[in-house]
Amino acid sequence: MERNIPELKPRVVLAVGAHPDDLEFGTSGSAAAWASAGAEVHYLICTDGSKGSDDVNLSSAELIKLRRDEQRAAAKILGVKSVTFLDHEDGVTEANAELKRDIVRVIRQKRPDTVVAQDPLMVYNADFGIINHNDHRNVGLAAMDAVYPLARDHLSFPELMAEGLEPHKVSDLLFMGNFDERSNYYVDISDTYETKLKALEAHASQVDMERVNGWLDAMSKRLGEAGGYERAESFIRLNMFI
Ligand SMILES: [Zn+2]
Repeated sequence: MERNIPELKPRVVLAVGAHPDDLEFGTSGSAAAWASAGAEVHYLICTDGSKGSDDVNLSSAELIKLRRDEQRAAAKILGVKSVTFLDHEDGVTEANAELKRDIVRVIRQKRPDTVVAQDPLMVYNADFGIINHNDHRNVGLAAMDAVYPLARDHLSFPELMAEGLEPHKVSDLLFMGNFDERSNYYVDISDTYETKLKALEAHASQVDMERVNGWLDAMSKRLGEAGGYERAESFIRLNMFI
């Protein structure tokens, strides 16, 4: 079936990630590009980021605060307008009704035309030698279900209607697809690549720039080549028919 898919020009973007730093790796070059083109970009971080540290002297509470501060600093560098934290427990996220409702609430508040999320079909990648984190898969799945049908249907989560949050229809869902050959949409990040690096540097407690610099450089160029730019981030774009 041939469909006329319009060019994507986001006006309001909601990027949904599991942990502080996920969105910097997957979509921060694009977020900065969209923001500088005049779009309103919002971040939603679903877990409290309380587990991912080797530092035995750091308590979960200290880690949560540190990771939030780093995420806010990164967002500021990118021109992201707001960051919402849902505080689901790090490491054991389930794509359950509670998480979906919490994401629907933010979709109905921010009313994005474009939602960016983690790809729920990305389970592992043998070429890169990675298992995709449980939270990434489940937050991606919950975000997808939140976009359709839950944010759209007024009978879903009636408590949100009681909060004054009207149903909302999202036009485009972009799954962050940097590892995925199914990517069908590329954003030119040639002008925002340095900003992406600065935003990643803001996550000083968990991102070792010396370790990731070479990989980021090669990846952004490889995706740029695929998309026809110097550097790019890639996505699986789902333009919503219904
Ligand atoms: Zn993560």
